[in-house]
Amino acid sequence: MKKEYYEVLGVPRAATKDEIKKAYRKLALQFHPDKNPDNKDAEEHFKEVNEAYEVLSNDDKRRRYDQFGHAGVGSSAASGGGGQHGGGADINDIFSAFNDMFTGGRRGGFEEAFGGGGQRRGRAQAGISGTDLKIRLKLTLEEIAKGVEKTLKIKKQVACKECNGSGSKSGATESCQTCHGSGEVRQVSKTMFGQFVNIATCPTCGGEGRIIKDRCPACYGEGIKLGEVTVKVTVPSGVENGNYLTLRGQGNAGPRGGAAGDLIVVLEEIPHELFSRNGNDVIYALAVSFPDLVLGTKVDVPTLDGAVKLTIPPATQPETMLRIPGHGIGHLKGSGKGDQYVKVNVYVPKDISHQDRELLKEMQKSSGISPSAHNDKDAKGFFEKARGIFS
Ligand SMILES: [Zn+2]
Ligand SMILES: [Zn+2]
Repeated sequence: MKKEYYEVLGVPRAATKDEIKKAYRKLALQFHPDKNPDNKDAEEHFKEVNEAYEVLSNDDKRRRYDQFGHAGVGSSAASGGGGQHGGGADINDIFSAFNDMFTGGRRGGFEEAFGGGGQRRGRAQAGISGTDLKIRLKLTLEEIAKGVEKTLKIKKQVACKECNGSGSKSGATESCQTCHGSGEVRQVSKTMFGQFVNIATCPTCGGEGRIIKDRCPACYGEGIKLGEVTVKVTVPSGVENGNYLTLRGQGNAGPRGGAAGDLIVVLEEIPHELFSRNGNDVIYALAVSFPDLVLGTKVDVPTLDGAVKLTIPPATQPETMLRIPGHGIGHLKGSGKGDQYVKVNVYVPKDISHQDRELLKEMQKSSGISPSAHNDKDAKGFFEKARGIFS
């Protein structure tokens, strides 16, 4: 005995369209095959729910169902009686309705909604889709700072020119006799619990729904050949190692006119020889001579967009971070840029001339440059730390 459609969706007979839609959404998500791998019960529920929704969401079908029951909408065929395609909820319709509902019918949205693989992509239409292609793209910090447009040469499967991607020399194809063009076959098995319908890829055409009569010799009937294409990729500023861009439909072409896969561009940051990165800020280490630290000076400092004059104020201490605003990396979201930080260090030469040695000896005699001559905070801190070490 077939279950009532209203019962299947758990709604009253007087339910509004919206209530039906809501109930369906909830149940479809609950029993979806991607969420219940290899669970036959869930699969059956999923089909039941879809069949019920297919009828109850359509004003005309719902009226006929209300009046005549299951017989009014010819649903006995779909539930496994005959091999006919008329009347019942076809699995292709189910999946396309499902796609439309959750993502506005965009190809590939199905996988996104469930985070699954591309395995089911072919179901929305007969035919085999091309595979996704993954490439790495190395970027300099300068390119990341501003964003960049790259032109890439990519080797991938492209449509065969000889046969326009059809795989057929003359362009002639024939609808598959086994599956009548749907690419899927229904296998009905009878058990003591009742009839079960299993939907499988058609073994004759491999899911394409069509058979090629005269194979194209250039591509051996595949409709695709290895080729090289140039692709423009726009990389926004502020991207990070491991971020990726998905270019829809720019992956491998599908065999015999199937939809193309996606091109996934994985981004890689080339380590910079001068700068290290901290989010959207960059850090540059600058060594400054002792007299310059004491007296202060102006120095040219490299940034990601050219040299900038930086003022080292008098009495700058080692390890001080000086900020150059707006010379960092452009934010990925929104406008604005990070900053550059300059970490100041004291430069201690290893090899000095005789003359410099004499100058330093002269300086050494002056008690004014020794920490003991100053009663300031920094010097005190230094002595306290030193005592801590030796006590
Ligand atoms: Zn077939
Ligand atoms: Zn060809």
